[in-house]
Amino acid sequence: MRRLLIVSNRLPVKVQKSKNQFGITPSAGGLATGLKSYHKSHDSVWIGWPGISVGSAKDENTIKVLLEKEHCLPVFLDNKMIENYYHGFSNATIWPLFHYFTEYIIFRATYWRAYKEVNLLFADRIIKHADKNDTVWIHDYQLMLVPDIIKEKRPDLRVGFFLHIPFPSFEVFRILPWREEILKGVLGSDLIGFHTYDYARHFISSTKRLLGFDVNFNQIRLEKRHVYIDVFPMSIDYEKFQRKAYEIQSKPIQERSKEHRDIDRFLLGSPNRKLILSIDRLDYTKGLTVRLRAFRHFLRKYSGYREQVSLILLTVPSRVEVEQYQSLKSEIEELVGSINGEFGTLNWNPIIYFYRSLPFANLIELYCSADIALLTPLRDGMNLVAKEFIATKTNHKGVLILSDMTGASKELGEAIAVNPYNIENVSDAIYEALNMSDEEQQRSVSIMQERIKRYDIYKWASEFIEALDKTKEKQAEYQARIVSEDLIKTLKIEFAKAQSKILFLDYDGTLQKFYDHPKAAIPDKELYEILDIIASVQKAELVLISGRDKDTFNEWFGDQNYTLIAEHGAWIKPRNGRWKERKSVHGEWKKNLIPVLESYVDRTPGSLIEEKTHSLVWHYRKADIELGALRALELQDDISNIILNQDLEILEGNKVMEIKVTGINKGNAAFEYLQNRNFDFIMAIGDDWTDEYLFQELPKSAYTIKVGTDKSIAKYYVDNYRDVRELLKTLTKKTNNG
Ligand code: UDP
Repeated sequence: MRRLLIVSNRLPVKVQKSKNQFGITPSAGGLATGLKSYHKSHDSVWIGWPGISVGSAKDENTIKVLLEKEHCLPVFLDNKMIENYYHGFSNATIWPLFHYFTEYIIFRATYWRAYKEVNLLFADRIIKHADKNDTVWIHDYQLMLVPDIIKEKRPDLRVGFFLHIPFPSFEVFRILPWREEILKGVLGSDLIGFHTYDYARHFISSTKRLLGFDVNFNQIRLEKRHVYIDVFPMSIDYEKFQRKAYEIQSKPIQERSKEHRDIDRFLLGSPNRKLILSIDRLDYTKGLTVRLRAFRHFLRKYSGYREQVSLILLTVPSRVEVEQYQSLKSEIEELVGSINGEFGTLNWNPIIYFYRSLPFANLIELYCSADIALLTPLRDGMNLVAKEFIATKTNHKGVLILSDMTGASKELGEAIAVNPYNIENVSDAIYEALNMSDEEQQRSVSIMQERIKRYDIYKWASEFIEALDKTKEKQAEYQARIVSEDLIKTLKIEFAKAQSKILFLDYDGTLQKFYDHPKAAIPDKELYEILDIIASVQKAELVLISGRDKDTFNEWFGDQNYTLIAEHGAWIKPRNGRWKERKSVHGEWKKNLIPVLESYVDRTPGSLIEEKTHSLVWHYRKADIELGALRALELQDDISNIILNQDLEILEGNKVMEIKVTGINKGNAAFEYLQNRNFDFIMAIGDDWTDEYLFQELPKSAYTIKVGTDKSIAKYYVDNYRDVRELLKTLTKKTNNG
């Protein structure tokens, strides 16, 4: 049976040593909290760091046995690795970069080396542990190189990757000195998931711009396979949170936690006092200091609310070793002190501050006590606390104030959305929340609850795994049609025994790779040799069929023993014959179009115009990849009126846009060429969608082969032009003398 291996930096449990004994406690943080319910309910194994560095093999073994019961497999990291890979590259380079805190980024070669080393270690553990065809689901920014390492060594594995933090815009991501390596690492996956569409489109844009891969909707086309990108907003175990909330609310106050009793005592003197809750890890991305300033501004601006509201500020210790986090803690504590000092009275503290991590039950108590959740991160991949707060509102009463810089804000549209940097906006939002009617609260909470309940953590995880399975099915379809060794043998035999045979070969992208400028793609010596051998086989005919202009084709192949079909079939030159125009047309139409195309060249640096007898081509391979695609759409729109009633059509090729005379294509040219002639071996190879016309017109018995991974009606696929050359060489090896 196919198993699921979940892989993340940390395991869902933390190993700790006390009194010479190892024990385990749950890990904090969104990923661990969220996914552990799914892990428990499925036959999965979780691979990750156990949160402790031990020196001896004996201790490692003890921990291994301890974790086995939890279906966890540890990857042991020493202190140096943790320092450089975890605190270093993950948290001092990637974390600030991906959250747009460029001023905090540290670039250090030692960090990068450690990151690579640890990613290799994780990959090694996965490879050793995974059975054939297992599914591997890798999580988050600490392990971005792992997918590619395992895909290289174990192509049988289904590899999914999910990024739990934002993926920044290209303009920010490009700063990273190891940007290409990181992208290639992640692209080892079959499916890559993000919380929001924005993160997904940023990733796609960086991939296009930095690696030059083509993208079709949510598929990135690598040479041998497609990688799928999709959006799966992570959720929570809704039932668990709601169940606990009901349970807690039914308990007498004496049985509740100390924090809760403190809060209740605090409310005793003033039962109408409203509680605003703020829960985050202590991290600069969470916007805690701006949030406190906004609260101070609220108390100043809406002074009538003094003594009527308190802010419960729970900050969870995080990355305490890092200096930035220590100074942030001091800054927060100073602000809390200063606000409490400025506004506090004998009966009232504006801010009740906790710096600790709370067990699950106590956390739910806090959620239940709060009237308002004030969650204003400056950047946050998702923010699960927002969803958890809503889930615990059993009476549907409560207001969520949520930063629009969080992934969660995309789903929780009924919350009061704020720009966390805008103190005025946040303080007004607090006022609005305090004045929201019960009906309005109930309406908003119910809608949000419905949504979170429907798309809970189980749904999130199973949708991801299902989508991963689907990507593999699509890849399997393609794999099944790839030209195999067996097919090559068959082709060789069929080719040798055929009495009359013909090969239709496209040029660019099929026999030759693409160059920035079309003129640069001249045929090389090896190519001439391959083609000459085919053309010299008795009773074999070689037809080069291309969109190229006839003059270039004539210059390259005019004196060879091949038939040439140029300009998508507008011109034909039988071997040893002369060029013939298949449809004669007036060139007048070009006069109107050339100035339009020229304006596109001026506004799209790197693009150029090529003129052929029957067409005008706008090439944009060298232009900025996104600008080129955008301009192509614009151009199409612009000229659609001009070409109306002119017997012209637009062909979109590979980074080219061609305006050509209608009624001419490779398909009808080949069809005409085959009229009244009999061939018992027909083969056609092409890479572009203009070759689909050719594949379509050939008899059913023809061997049609598509180069690349795009959808095609061809029967078979090869990966690239080098494979085409090898295939052609093999085909003629022994049949050289006919
Ligand atoms: N959390 C916790 N103990 C606490 C406070 C919070 O386990 O004392 C959990 C909380 O329930 C939530 C997670 O920590 O599931 C925080 O996730 P979020 O997405 O809000 O932020 P992250 O820490 O992942 O940046």
